[in-house]
Amino acid sequence: MTSPPPAPPATTTPDDERFLREALLLADEAAAVGEVPVGCVVVVDGAVVGRGRNRREQDRDPLAHAEVLALRAASSALGRWRLAGATLYVTLEPCFMCAGALVNARVDRVVFGAFDPKAGAVGSLADVCRDARLNHRLVVHGGVLAEECGDVLRRFFRARRERPKAATLPEER
Ligand code: ZN
Repeated sequence: MTSPPPAPPATTTPDDERFLREALLLADEAAAVGEVPVGCVVVVDGAVVGRGRNRREQDRDPLAHAEVLALRAASSALGRWRLAGATLYVTLEPCFMCAGALVNARVDRVVFGAFDPKAGAVGSLADVCRDARLNHRLVVHGGVLAEECGDVLRRFFRARRERPKAATLPEER
């Protein structure tokens, strides 16, 4: 048996906010092209190894959530599916699919911004990342920069409600 890796920090750090702000930039990028603004980065040893932002509309892919895309990018960059040593930063509480992906990818730690009372699976509707029945658990920090992360979404949905009908996406009609 090898010795266990060092435990991830129990509290958030200034670096956490810095990386979450990088995820916020990706959320803005999503909003600019009409995607629900959620952004995500994966960090290993203080470096971003994967980025993702919601692309469901553009890719016509129900799985194209920011977290899934960032995990794929990180795995591809590192050449491994096991993302031990990684922290994932995302602007919105992960859904069931993404929380499941975090467990499956063996990510050490997840730091997210706004809670999602309607779909969140990391504290709101369920706690997939800390479920003792699963074979892997993560350290979770939720509600970091929650105001800023929630504002991106609120601005997006407000603008969408105020948008003239003719400009709606085909799938919304
Ligand atoms: Zn998701």
